[in-house]
Amino acid sequence: MTKYVIGLLFLLTSCATTIQPPLSSIDVQYIITENMKPAHQCDKSLPVFYMIGVNVPADIYMVITESFNYWNSLSNKKLFMQIGYIKEVYDSEGGITPISLGALPSKVGGRTRVGYDIDGCIFETKIVLNFDIQYLPVSMQHNIVRHEIGHLLGLDDSNNKEGIMNRSVSYHEKIKNLIPIELIAFKLFYL
Ligand SMILES: [Zn+2]
Repeated sequence: MTKYVIGLLFLLTSCATTIQPPLSSIDVQYIITENMKPAHQCDKSLPVFYMIGVNVPADIYMVITESFNYWNSLSNKKLFMQIGYIKEVYDSEGGITPISLGALPSKVGGRTRVGYDIDGCIFETKIVLNFDIQYLPVSMQHNIVRHEIGHLLGLDDSNNKEGIMNRSVSYHEKIKNLIPIELIAFKLFYL
């Protein structure tokens, strides 16, 4: 029942054709569960409590908290709340989302695990960012962390190059904001 969402690549490796989903099927912006429901944080799970690993350097810590604040600013609901630090990250954290640096394959900026129940309500999440993220441009760090936090809300990867939920980020991009189609999808559950 747990789906692993592999994070984005550091580099845009090919010129893939951009396919923008039509507005009538915006639910494709969410991770679709095995019984065809969009995975999302149900009201009972909000705010999502998270802890930042003690191995996260101060500058990345800032990027992480600013990224959570960005998502919070988009909703009238309180989506995320930091409740402290975490020393070691285990598989199950009792509903608290750990976010830490870890060893990931090169070119993978981050990895998010999302566990959901039969109704599509997310009950378990975890983000691991690649150790190498510290050596990337700040705008890229933001784009990676914003993307991974999008997965915490159930948003899936997209093919739209402009969007936060695109799988790839590149060195020369500015800090991304949600594009209109992502904002529409987001508002389905998080207005
Ligand atoms: Zn992703």
